[in-house]
Amino acid sequence: MTPKTPITVAYGDGIGPEIMSASLHILQAAGAAIEIETVEVGEKVYLSGNTSGIEPKAWESLRRTKVFYKAPLTTPQGTGFKSINVTTRKTLGLYANVRPCASYHPFIKTKHPVMDIVIIRENEEDLYAGIEHRQTDEVYQCLKLITRPGSEKIIRYAFEYARRNNRKKVTAFTKDNIMKLTDGLFHRVFDEIAVEYPDIENEHWIVDIGAAKMADTPENFDVIVLPNLYGDVLSDVAAQIAGSVGLAGSANIGEHAAMFEAIHGSAPRRAGQNLANPSGLLLAGVMMMVHIGQPEVAERVHNAWLRTIEDGVHTYDIFREGVSRQKVGTKEFAEAVVARLGQTPQTLKPVSYAAGESIPPGGAAAIRPPARKETVGVDVFLAWDEAGRDPNVLGEKLRRLNGDGLELMMISNRGQKVWPNGSPETFCVDHWRARFMSTGGALHHGQIVRLLERVANDGFDFIKTENLCTFDGEPGFSLGQGQ
Ligand code: NAD
Repeated sequence: MTPKTPITVAYGDGIGPEIMSASLHILQAAGAAIEIETVEVGEKVYLSGNTSGIEPKAWESLRRTKVFYKAPLTTPQGTGFKSINVTTRKTLGLYANVRPCASYHPFIKTKHPVMDIVIIRENEEDLYAGIEHRQTDEVYQCLKLITRPGSEKIIRYAFEYARRNNRKKVTAFTKDNIMKLTDGLFHRVFDEIAVEYPDIENEHWIVDIGAAKMADTPENFDVIVLPNLYGDVLSDVAAQIAGSVGLAGSANIGEHAAMFEAIHGSAPRRAGQNLANPSGLLLAGVMMMVHIGQPEVAERVHNAWLRTIEDGVHTYDIFREGVSRQKVGTKEFAEAVVARLGQTPQTLKPVSYAAGESIPPGGAAAIRPPARKETVGVDVFLAWDEAGRDPNVLGEKLRRLNGDGLELMMISNRGQKVWPNGSPETFCVDHWRARFMSTGGALHHGQIVRLLERVANDGFDFIKTENLCTFDGEPGFSLGQGQ
């Protein structure tokens, strides 16, 4: 007998308890060897005054089992409540969000009958670091962080996933024609890692045209790997155009733990009525069974589920006169899947997980020696709203602060160069970047500190600085010409 694998289960809120009971019933009927540890997370915990929504006991269980099967949760309205999804992903380092989006034509309505793509979204970085500031009266910023280890881990994960699932192609989407350093790094790492997988085709699209192509002809895509924000948006687009938001599950994989959930929410209006479709959570459970090394259970459940869909046994959300045969509730749907365990679909393609681990475990990034870093300048950001915001007045004032090995080279406003030789049409806000470069050799921090002292003593309000560095002689900063 397979030894039982402990898993942490949260029944969630709204329709959560119904779809979790149904999914666990199917998995166990298929022979899942799991030992369930139930934890309380979500609305009740939030409302008891715990703003994280997770009771400490739940962390203890998660750290021990390292597998989290989670029904949807309700985040109470209002500020101060942290999203459990974000907290769990970040705390446990679940960097890879894997979301298969397939259409089930002709049994479920879709505009894209042959769609079968897997979105692999980076889950921890990018604009989601949550580092935001109001800097001036008019300007707010959010820091976009893309890291080499983060990019390496997610991109390698995508190629590993493709290889183990017999997928033919991995596509990356970035906006590196604009964000040359951040998205440029993601693209470069993609090209580097793709070389290690010569058996898998690779391609890169700028995210705007790539997204348009994916929405138009998803049959031309296979596995798509994306930085966090594009992945967040496009994984919902992909699920929606497959015609199956209620059917999609997702896996969140890290080096130390994994979380499996439906992509939809807790649908509170449908709660307690035996109406909800458990398919999204069940398909997440299928990925979980693969992850914990019980692929034969995953295969039995997935094929029985496909057969149920094919037989027209549908919950209200996918029921369609003329195509569906029987409208069922959550429990009856679960029983219909259980009754088909051991069967395979006849029109839809059966799945096969027997070959092994099709949900790769999360890996670590390579450790590399640091580059030689030299500071060659500094961008000083200022709040300035004088002299009718005339850049030439600002340029003249700041130029007087040159010296001690630093010289004002350029001023920009919202990234557009406005001094020297700016254009009078450029619209300026109250937020300026003054670029001072070294007049010879590497700078010391002391020179930057003394420059800031001169800037402050002259009555300027500096709001932040960014050091301009070279790494092995390569500039680690954009040229700031307002390209
Ligand atoms: P939702 O996904 O709960 O519902 C959107 C629509 O889809 C509703 O009409 C609902 O009835 C329907 N629907 C969703 N899942 C269904 C299912 N399994 N079967 C049948 N119909 C289904 O999105 P929402 O209404 O925007 O959010 C409700 C709550 O869920 C909010 O509190 C939100 O914060 C939370 N939420 C949680 C998660 C999560 O835990 N992963 C994700 C999204 C939203």
